Amino acid sequence: MLIKRLIRLRLFYIWITLILLGCSNDEIGLTEFECAEGNFECNVDVALASYVNDFFEEAEARGNGFPRDNIIAEFVDEIVINGIGFSGRGWSDYDGTGQKKIEILRNAWGTMNESQREILVFHELGHALLSRGHRNSRFPNCDRASVMCGDVCDGFRTIYTQADDQRRTYYLDELFDPCIEFPDWATAPPLTNSVIFLTDEISIEHENWNSILGENTVAGISDSVAFSGQYSLAIDAGVQEITHSSVWRYDLVEFPGGVFGSNFKVRAKVKAEEVVGTWAMSLQARNSDDRLIFNENTLACHTLDGTTEFEAFELNHYCFENDIEKISFVIGFIGGTTGTIYIDDLQFIYEK
Ligand SMILES: [Zn+2]
Repeated sequence: MLIKRLIRLRLFYIWITLILLGCSNDEIGLTEFECAEGNFECNVDVALASYVNDFFEEAEARGNGFPRDNIIAEFVDEIVINGIGFSGRGWSDYDGTGQKKIEILRNAWGTMNESQREILVFHELGHALLSRGHRNSRFPNCDRASVMCGDVCDGFRTIYTQADDQRRTYYLDELFDPCIEFPDWATAPPLTNSVIFLTDEISIEHENWNSILGENTVAGISDSVAFSGQYSLAIDAGVQEITHSSVWRYDLVEFPGGVFGSNFKVRAKVKAEEVVGTWAMSLQARNSDDRLIFNENTLACHTLDGTTEFEAFELNHYCFENDIEKISFVIGFIGGTTGTIYIDDLQFIYEK
């Protein structure tokens, strides 16, 4: 009898305590996300709120604030895309409505520590609020270069811990500005052996190149502008605005054995003529399942406005992976750009 009363009494106290604490989530260590009034839905699960808050604060600290009226952050029981399961997902334009939204897999959340949870939420918010895609790059020391590393990046949710200020600061800086320089701690001993294993000086024969063009754009071989020899590849977006990217693509399917583990480099000479807008080059490496193993791009990090002489541009991928089947090198204009560029002297290089 006494025991029963004690239990009842204890339950009573627990009940009282819960009521007292229940007045405010703050008192039991939870912060709510404060939404602003607006035209979109704003609803952040209370268990995700502190991470979403931190993202907004880190953005504001870097002069990159967002209105707090457009974000849904919620838990779901399943995230499967093309038959593959994921722990999170983010949309910058959910269903074409402009709504920003992230989903977190409830089961995965339960297995993660605080740092891993932060990296997961920041990654998905990087898709949703920064419209960032995946960056499967590596540093010279082979560490992953970004919290925006995609689904092939095993273990990237341990690239920093909240206790390691230096690494955390770098990865957050990179999240909000992917153009920042490598950090000092990510360097490696200098590479001394450089091998140019493929050169294309562009000739009238150019069957390895394919053009993918937006409306009104023309692409072809120029026989009047060249860095070496007589020819270069040209893309002319004219004066009319194009809405889709217009690029030349070179597919590489054979690599020398020495390339594995090396710094893989592509170099091209590019000349601009009356360019207004953005040009870019990228490397995309896929395995036999057509999954993106690495990608590197110059997106928005270099400009080539106006009219220039030929200039050498490079992209590097450090720590070349084993299971690459094909690499596509893509170079050209982002949609909305006008003018002409000429491309010459493509080189693929590895350094060890
Ligand atoms: Zn992602």
